[in-house]
Amino acid sequence: MDRKEAEIRIAALRDTLRENSRRYYVDNAPTMSDYEYDQLMHQLEALEAEWPDLATDDSPTRRVGSDLDAPLGENAEPGIRREFAQYPHRYPMLSLGNTYSIAEVEDFAARAAKTLDEDFSYSCELKFDGTAICLTYRDGRLVRALTRGDGVVGDDVTDNVRHIDNIPQKLSGSGWPHEFEIRGEILMPFASFDRLNEQRRRDEDPPFANPRNAASGSLKLLDSAEVGRRGLWCTLYHIPAESISFDTHQAALDAAAAWGLPVSEHRRICRNIEEIEAYISHWDTARRSLPYATDGIVIKINELRCQQRLGYTAKFPRWAVAYKFKAEEAVTPLLSIDYQVGRTGAVTPVANLAPVLLSGTMVRRATLNNADQMALLDIRLGDWVHVEKGGEIIPKITSVELSRRPADARVPEFPKLCPDCGTPLVKEENEAKYFCPNADGCPTQIKGKLIHFMGRKAMNILAGDATADQLYARGLVRTPADLYDLRKRDLLTLEGWKDRSADRFLESLRASLQTPFDHVLFALGIRFVGETTAKELAAAFGDIDALAAASQEELLAVPDVGEVIARSVYEWFRNPSHQVEIQRLKADGLRFSMEAKTAASNALEGKTIVISGNFSISRDEMKALIEANGGKNSSSVSSKTSWLLAGSKPGPEKLKKAAELGVSVISEADLRAMLPDSASQEDPGDEEPNLFSL
Ligand code: NAD
Repeated sequence: MDRKEAEIRIAALRDTLRENSRRYYVDNAPTMSDYEYDQLMHQLEALEAEWPDLATDDSPTRRVGSDLDAPLGENAEPGIRREFAQYPHRYPMLSLGNTYSIAEVEDFAARAAKTLDEDFSYSCELKFDGTAICLTYRDGRLVRALTRGDGVVGDDVTDNVRHIDNIPQKLSGSGWPHEFEIRGEILMPFASFDRLNEQRRRDEDPPFANPRNAASGSLKLLDSAEVGRRGLWCTLYHIPAESISFDTHQAALDAAAAWGLPVSEHRRICRNIEEIEAYISHWDTARRSLPYATDGIVIKINELRCQQRLGYTAKFPRWAVAYKFKAEEAVTPLLSIDYQVGRTGAVTPVANLAPVLLSGTMVRRATLNNADQMALLDIRLGDWVHVEKGGEIIPKITSVELSRRPADARVPEFPKLCPDCGTPLVKEENEAKYFCPNADGCPTQIKGKLIHFMGRKAMNILAGDATADQLYARGLVRTPADLYDLRKRDLLTLEGWKDRSADRFLESLRASLQTPFDHVLFALGIRFVGETTAKELAAAFGDIDALAAASQEELLAVPDVGEVIARSVYEWFRNPSHQVEIQRLKADGLRFSMEAKTAASNALEGKTIVISGNFSISRDEMKALIEANGGKNSSSVSSKTSWLLAGSKPGPEKLKKAAELGVSVISEADLRAMLPDSASQEDPGDEEPNLFSL
């Protein structure tokens, strides 16, 4: 790889890691497995080591992922605080170097032995999979609890932490320092997690993907008493050496336990690598019967003097390492490979597998990512392959079981032509994927862009893949702007469509005109512009014209926009067909600036409203809209409820309760009709309404 290639790859890796770090720490909704994230981080570390002049202080390799309160992500639950007081940590709260290989644990031990010319031991502990916390006790009383934040400052969650049962407000015993910090993890045990998700399903809130996300989401709730009801639990594992006078880490933790602090009973002193390996292999299996989640083992040098000698990098202590457990794996035959074209034209090979049970679900398909990945795996049709699946993450093929390769296994041939439109595929320099360049003519890309545009997190238009297929097949729609030209008589030509379905679709198109600018920007489907980046760009530029006129340098100044995203946005707006599309969508009345918000009023004063289902805006935005107009939100239907506001797919429980109690059910359109700026959304009564004219 030459310098230019390394520069591009480094920029792409940093963009990907930052975006995923935000999904993980801020939105509590990761879309990549930890293993994959860690592999990308290791690739970036290796490239920065090879090209030291390309390493920068703000690289994810040198910063801990930040959980600091930030604009809320799509998956954040209502009631999460937008602002916490923030305080600096007395000693930085760092991450841990991690590995998935025993050989690297051996390297860690060998490096420590080489630096330390004295005897030392290891403290082996479980790696608890929750969210880090730093507690300060003064005169034996809990005075502050901070999250890790960005490692330098943390969010003050003291009020919430006071509601976690096993954290003492007051220490017992004696001998504690006048003031000291102790750090650990806030966890959500599986039993609490299951209970919480059950409740969320009943309330039609999206369930949490895993206990870690649930723990960190719950710790940042507005209502401390609700935090108490979530059944969180704490385990503590570190007292910064500066605030105590013990010789060893284990002695400090024993003392903490004697003061009534929750410290794990599963820590062990190991003298050598064999003992460490035995500890790892024991817990690799035994952890499955623990009541909470663990994702590895932490190995720490036990003697505090030795810890001080080894010191820290910008991101990790040099005296500790985490050995992480890999996600669950199975071996199964590869039956065939499909080549799927995405909405951006990227062609992704997808393996069809003989069905196999993995992490509780039946796996039939797994992504192979790209041609390079297929070559790297040296995969053949007929091979037995190792498949991995972690939590909510899509299954992935990690290797081929060569010992079971049949004699007639065939090397798969990556197609030269687009499997959909037959256009020769291209592979740009430094791109891992093949692309179909026929962006405006390839049916799958056109339909993919329409489906993305109509999606729930984009314009939230009531239509699925089948509608997109039909609209395309009839030649009615090629670009999103065509959707707003549709007339009822066009829709009635679609198979199975009746008056009611056509009306509902037109109504949902009309409602989509209220979609906030950041969602519209996401809906446009600009490559690399996910929901979070769209929010950042919308906030930074305020409207589409300013964004379209921005130079690459100006784009780069937006937090977390790296070179790859900046170039993609810049080029998208330079494409004449995109400029025409924006003009058409503007004329249709879509929101292309941040200001266009519903004015506040007293229109809903005295009304208590329960919302259920999906709307043209997110549920949080709908609740904010109700409050801005003087109404009150409530989560359950009771005799005090004024209206049940039902969007698409309202909860049957709530509908039933409303019917029992005689509570009126209203639609989004009914609600908007009561609000001051609703006049502009009213149907003008045209026999064949054309949204373009609204
Ligand atoms: P980490 O979770 O890998 O390890 C460090 C943390 O472990 C500490 O901060 C502490 O909170 C915790 N810990 C648990 N038990 C401990 C013990 N006994 N002793 C000391 N610490 C203990 O590191 P991180 O910086 O919190 O997170 C980075 C990791 O998060 C990445 O390596 C990756 O696996 C994951 N991540 C995943 C994504 C994704 O998209 N899947 C995104 C960002 C980060």
